[in-house]
Amino acid sequence: MALRSIEELAGRRVFPGEPLCTVEEFIPGDGVYVDDGLIRAARFGRVEVDMASRRISVKPFSAKPRLPRRGSAVYGIVYAVPREELALVRIFADERMVPYNGFFSGALHIVQVADSPGERSIYDYVKPGDYIRATVMSSTPPFMLSMKKSQDGVVLAYCSVCGAPLYRVPGSPRLVCLHCGNEEDRRVSPLYILTARRKRRHNAGA
Ligand SMILES: [Zn+2]
Repeated sequence: MALRSIEELAGRRVFPGEPLCTVEEFIPGDGVYVDDGLIRAARFGRVEVDMASRRISVKPFSAKPRLPRRGSAVYGIVYAVPREELALVRIFADERMVPYNGFFSGALHIVQVADSPGERSIYDYVKPGDYIRATVMSSTPPFMLSMKKSQDGVVLAYCSVCGAPLYRVPGSPRLVCLHCGNEEDRRVSPLYILTARRKRRHNAGA
């Protein structure tokens, strides 16, 4: 008695213990076990049927680790500034903000932020603890990052004085702390998460 046809079995996702076929139909291969004349899956995986040898196996799903793709955007957190012109980034998610299985090392050089940085420091654009969106420039780790695309930049930063999250103020290039009033410079992404209402500079009639 056949449980399922070959067409139904091949490529099927199965759970451990799931009956696949009888020992009369196939020879047990990898990832299966025999129980009272039935071949059952021994692991979660995909059924493979070798018609030549009449062998049935369950292959584990290969958990392909995703890598940041060259040319795509990623999200990361700046964790160190070892030199005035270089920031180190821990990349944690792709451009859809889907997290990777782990972290990837990224490096952001000042020439990948500003066309003519002159005497400026990378600190003028990012600081440790900042969440950034950046574009991947290389195919292997450590990934070289760029923040020159219009969507790239800091997406969330915290106040250097009091640690509160900083807000973007429409019309201003600076970020402000609503808690202590501190203002800070960053390369701010248009995707920056927190926006404050514009401050009133004058009282009516003053
Ligand atoms: Zn503050």
